[in-house]
Amino acid sequence: MSDVLLEVRNLVKHFPVGGGMFGGPVATVRAVDDVSFTVRRGETVGLVGESGCGKTTTGRCILQLERPTSGQILFEGTDLITLPAEELRVLRRRIQVIFQDPFSSLNPRMTIGQILAEPLKVHRIIPEKTARAEKVQELLAQVGLLSQHADRYPHQLSGGQRQRVGIARALATEPSLIICDEPVSALDVSIQAQIINLLEELQSRLGLTYLFIAHDLSVVRHISDRVVVMYLGKIAEVADRTALYESPVHPYTRALLSAVPIPDPKLEASREHTVLRGEVPSPLNPPSGCVFHPRCPIAEPRCSAEIPLLREIHPEHRGACHLA
Ligand code: SF4
Repeated sequence: MSDVLLEVRNLVKHFPVGGGMFGGPVATVRAVDDVSFTVRRGETVGLVGESGCGKTTTGRCILQLERPTSGQILFEGTDLITLPAEELRVLRRRIQVIFQDPFSSLNPRMTIGQILAEPLKVHRIIPEKTARAEKVQELLAQVGLLSQHADRYPHQLSGGQRQRVGIARALATEPSLIICDEPVSALDVSIQAQIINLLEELQSRLGLTYLFIAHDLSVVRHISDRVVVMYLGKIAEVADRTALYESPVHPYTRALLSAVPIPDPKLEASREHTVLRGEVPSPLNPPSGCVFHPRCPIAEPRCSAEIPLLREIHPEHRGACHLA
């Protein structure tokens, strides 16, 4: 069995923007532009970038919530994009998602017990009602909730408890891969650590694989084995955690890292900070050459003319920069 669980190959997702005189598209948003990476069994890959970099669209394409413009999404070697609907339905059970905002992703009119029982019923995993109720209790216990939580409604729980329900719901279909889409961004800092610890504990207990989407590098530092940094629909850098945090090769990664505070005040005061110029450009009209060049502190004339390839700089460490 290959150790690669998921391979995203040359993924492209463009959104046509309408409004032309005859109703046709007038422009294209290049949300994801030729993105390739792998996720191995049992590891956590962090997918990081500012808002609009394409990380969430990439996650939605993997989940088949968006139809990619081109490329392949290989799950255990099977391309999800070309799979017939019935086979996709069966396989999709093994890929689940935990959303950023558990409040809006949980049906307010259903009890927690009903929410957790639903995927077991819909996917015909446990058709019998009593056995389903037992499984709901098991799921609650797995995420550190009590059996009486089954009778409560989402609004009767705290934010952290609701996210635990979101995790339990993802576990219901016994997935291999979970896309964690900014699962702690909406929570208080004290609760964030509890949820991250729970995800790690579940990973080692159940052999789960995570793609962990986040907008800054501080959140994924603790949990990721490898990190993919995206900027304006493209991959800027991919490396294992130690290499990425200790010797980043892309100026964008270095700028993101310099924004992450260091707990030691002496070290924090002594290090250099890179402040990025301007805003992320619109993906409707991305810059020529290297898409990062208008904000890059070390850009050269060729950066605005030539697109840098994502190439291997060190073993297992790739960067898309002419000067890396
Ligand atoms: Fe900066 Fe040029 Fe490297 Fe792009 S290719 S990151 S603009 S130095």
